Amino acid sequence: MQLRRLILAVALIPLGCAAPFSVPLGQCPVASAPPGVPEDSALVVHYLGVSGFLLKRGDDVVLTAPLYSNPSLVEVVLDHAIRPDSAQVDRFLPPEAAEARAILVGHSHYDHLLDVSNIARRHATRARVYGSPTTRHLLAAFPDLDGRVVAVEEEDLGNHERPGRWLDVAPRVRIMALESHHSSQVTLELPFSPQPTPIHVWRGGLDHDQETPPRTASDWAEGAVYAYVVDFLDTPGGRPVFRVYFQDSGTDEPVGYVPEAVLREKRVDVALLCVGGDFHRLRRHPEGILENTRPRHAVLGHWEDFFVTQDNHAVDGRVYPIPGTDQDTRDFRKRAEEALHAVDPESKVWLPCPTRSRFVFAAEGGRGRPLTSRP
Ligand SMILES: [Zn+2]
Repeated sequence: MQLRRLILAVALIPLGCAAPFSVPLGQCPVASAPPGVPEDSALVVHYLGVSGFLLKRGDDVVLTAPLYSNPSLVEVVLDHAIRPDSAQVDRFLPPEAAEARAILVGHSHYDHLLDVSNIARRHATRARVYGSPTTRHLLAAFPDLDGRVVAVEEEDLGNHERPGRWLDVAPRVRIMALESHHSSQVTLELPFSPQPTPIHVWRGGLDHDQETPPRTASDWAEGAVYAYVVDFLDTPGGRPVFRVYFQDSGTDEPVGYVPEAVLREKRVDVALLCVGGDFHRLRRHPEGILENTRPRHAVLGHWEDFFVTQDNHAVDGRVYPIPGTDQDTRDFRKRAEEALHAVDPESKVWLPCPTRSRFVFAAEGGRGRPLTSRP
């Protein structure tokens, strides 16, 4: 621990404030394949940072949009020009990303879309990018991606009441997009306002193709927001062996939830849930989505300080939460654990570290629990 953090921690104790929250790099959770389960038949879930995950079953790989360029808080707040940092992408993106057939984008804010064109053009060159019409209009500024950006159309979207259309992204992988929402990023208590003030910036969408890449954070318009179900199938067009639910913003219950008709076919194995944003003001987040999906594993994303690049984690030997959210991160994990254990005491909640946390989960009914795990 650096001296200044130690002084801060000691100084806060007499004030009754909670100590800063962090995960030491040596305690980043990981899970290996259970004994007797070859990794190729298991599901690998590798946390990449922010809302980025690499999902892999054998040769089938799907990415959800990661962020490696991590502009600073000041650059974002001042709406300074920001751009992808290829060196960071090259350093931290796992080599398996080259096999990805899909990059799933839940919404088009910079912390989800800034690095996608760079990754799709330079690494995941076989992948199509799936997102909203706004995602496609923004990425139209990168002509060499032409034909690889798929806007999921309204008639193909599901919602919490009815299934959408399954889209095949590989012979044994299909996805379904679900209508979802974006929460407020923060809520401020302002001295001149009698009520708390929720802040939700960069809303709205685009209706025409961009000719030049977005320049500042505010140029990355949110657009429509989707959650996704990702199924890894036993055979081409067959039955799901692994099912993953992905959201990149928390929602009010039941927005973005999986419809009952889809869940009847198979429960969710892994739910990838968003911690970031003002979840305290949402209706039952994360309890509602955990009761809906009943996952065997819940992996919590978008919790760490995404205003610093990942090489900074090695400086203090720790991963810190989004600035100002120490207690929120603790609260979210506790609420997720309580809600999930009420649904299924065998299920587990993981708070992963970017790049360092890689989980190998067996299929349901296989040998179940991971061989090695640290909370
Ligand atoms: Zn966002």
